[in-house]
Amino acid sequence: MKKLVSFFFLLTVFLIIILPTLIARGCSGEEVRTPVEIDRSPIISPAGEITLKVFNHQSEELVEMPLEEYLVGVVAAEMPASFAVEALKAQAVVARTYTVNQMLAFGGKGCDRHAGADICTNSAHCQAWESEKSSLAKWQGEGAEYLNKIRSAVGATAGKVITHEGRLIDAVFHSTCGGHTENSEDVWSTALPYLRSVACNFCTDSRWTETQHEFTAAAFSEAIVPYVSALPVSASGRPLLEQGVRSATGRLKSVLIAGETVTGRDFRTAFKLPSTNVTWQITDKKITFTAKGYGHGVGLCQYGANGLAKQGKTYTEIIEHYYTGVAVTDIPVS
Ligand SMILES: [Zn+2]
Ligand SMILES: [Zn+2]
Repeated sequence: MKKLVSFFFLLTVFLIIILPTLIARGCSGEEVRTPVEIDRSPIISPAGEITLKVFNHQSEELVEMPLEEYLVGVVAAEMPASFAVEALKAQAVVARTYTVNQMLAFGGKGCDRHAGADICTNSAHCQAWESEKSSLAKWQGEGAEYLNKIRSAVGATAGKVITHEGRLIDAVFHSTCGGHTENSEDVWSTALPYLRSVACNFCTDSRWTETQHEFTAAAFSEAIVPYVSALPVSASGRPLLEQGVRSATGRLKSVLIAGETVTGRDFRTAFKLPSTNVTWQITDKKITFTAKGYGHGVGLCQYGANGLAKQGKTYTEIIEHYYTGVAVTDIPVS
């Protein structure tokens, strides 16, 4: 009888406690996740509904979209969705600033390649954007969770833009600065008061912090020949690359190759290097470049923004770190 009682006791324990746990964990022993629902509640800007005309390169058509919905597709395309929420918010504000600055309704120049368009989805011309369908396919299992994260980052900053002395800034950004961001005039011709070089040791998580790129003398020659008229290697096949002119942060402004000046920008393009912050080592018939960072280095450093967010900084603090003397404000009423 005693045995029977303890048997029923154990059976009860199994049915009440152990069995539900096993069911919840599934047969493979992995925890069964309840599917995340996509929250598509409309994102309302305090400035009221603003729409813009976007030329979509995928569908080859001009479409009208609410600004905030458009920005969800921009943040999804421009920043890894795995980044911390405050970094995603900073990216949303940067993208909104860029977009509003370009909108015809706000006195911007629009996209000059597509008549009537405020902006196009070609990242090399205007700004990267991807459809919700593309984002979800890219994120696979994490899709709904990532989309909700980006929608909430855009929603939490709805209507916010970056201004300097009351005017929208040119909100440029890049992937990884590699230690210091760059002064605007050292990359382009104009010195802008809010695009100043700042220290950033927050982007060390990026795989672009430091990378190596190796070229044989023949590959070196082939890559640089379009930019020089003389043969860029010596008779013995040694690459003829001399020390360059550098900005205060170490980025190449120009280099001498076989006695000819090549700009840092052309040099980066020729060798498909991630940045102009490059040093090199030449051994017989081989050259190894060491590059720091990825991108032009001006304005917000995306990996740095993520690093700062992980340290507990807010999106406003992140923006104020990378853009000197700016304010985060509501979209100016024109
Ligand atoms: Zn365009
Ligand atoms: Zn950085």
